[in-house]
Amino acid sequence: MELSIDLLKKIALNVYDVIHPILGSKEASQKAQKGAGGDISMQIDLIAENIIINTLENENVSIFLISEEIGEKYIGDKQKAIENQNILIVDPVDGSNNAVRGIPYCSVSIAYAKGKNMGDIKKAVVLDLVSKDIYWAIKGEGAYLNANKIHVSDLDLSNKSFLELNLPKKNIFKNIERIKPIIQQFHRIRILGSSALTLCQIASGNMEAFINLRESNRLVDVAAGYLILKEAGGKFFSVKGVDFDLELSIKINFPFIACNAHLQSFLKKNLLLLDFY
Ligand SMILES: [Mg+2]
Repeated sequence: MELSIDLLKKIALNVYDVIHPILGSKEASQKAQKGAGGDISMQIDLIAENIIINTLENENVSIFLISEEIGEKYIGDKQKAIENQNILIVDPVDGSNNAVRGIPYCSVSIAYAKGKNMGDIKKAVVLDLVSKDIYWAIKGEGAYLNANKIHVSDLDLSNKSFLELNLPKKNIFKNIERIKPIIQQFHRIRILGSSALTLCQIASGNMEAFINLRESNRLVDVAAGYLILKEAGGKFFSVKGVDFDLELSIKINFPFIACNAHLQSFLKKNLLLLDFY
């Protein structure tokens, strides 16, 4: 049994219905406990995760869930989930800090895999919790924003390209100095705060590149955006310039680079010269 893209969208819309009205509220920001992903969970994260679990249970789905707050958990019939190799990789709220402060850039990210590795991700949905826009993709069938097919831009460095640059706070000035030859080539730099949504911005041609050098970056943040970007013609690789095929697990953290097809060789070549990590 495979999960349908409509079910993934339904889960995301259920999260939207409850989370959108409390964006920026006091209730949303109350601290709870440390989540499995390492950050302190806030009420908003736990509420969103519970909606996802409840929807899966109501739909009688048997699946291995990897989610930011709860970590790893079997939903439904464990034996069936193992036999089916059904895995759901979820960030209930990506950009929680934006969400609780009322900054309109946060999303729910849901990736469905049949198999154990990133290459086994088959379907993905990222829903913008502010606008209700749904970015989605099915492997081999392209990427969409709502009903419209999306594709990465064809801008190169001579065309005023946009970059999102996310660096760890540790050694930030040293790293900015090191990476200067790359960032100087871009027209504008942003740090928006939801990796899932930024991968979708590149997928839909609104931005050209995303350099995320945070080693603490989690698989749950990028699993869905990764497929959407790839299906939209984008590129996703490590700081060493190689493709990922990591095992799907809550423990996986990695820095990454995402971009349109034109910027791939420039970024790979220059990042290799800088020898990060
Ligand atoms: Mg989160």
